[in-house]
Amino acid sequence: MAEMCGNCRNFFEPRGGGVCRAHPPTARDDGTARWPSVARSDWCGEYRVMPPPVNPGVRRLATV
Ligand code: SF4
Repeated sequence: MAEMCGNCRNFFEPRGGGVCRAHPPTARDDGTARWPSVARSDWCGEYRVMPPPVNPGVRRLATV
């Protein structure tokens, strides 16, 4: 899988634009705080692999 924001665990896309949640939001002059905007195709050195999807069948086998 390509190491880009769209595939990163820190990427969040609430409504339209994507943001990076690798670090806390940064305070702005107007009193609000925001995470930095990123595009799906961006990339940085803090890329983190998305965890694999949960498979309830495998989890059930492991607890039997
Ligand atoms: S900027 Fe880096 S840490 Fe943030 S979503 Fe993109 S690849 Fe992940």
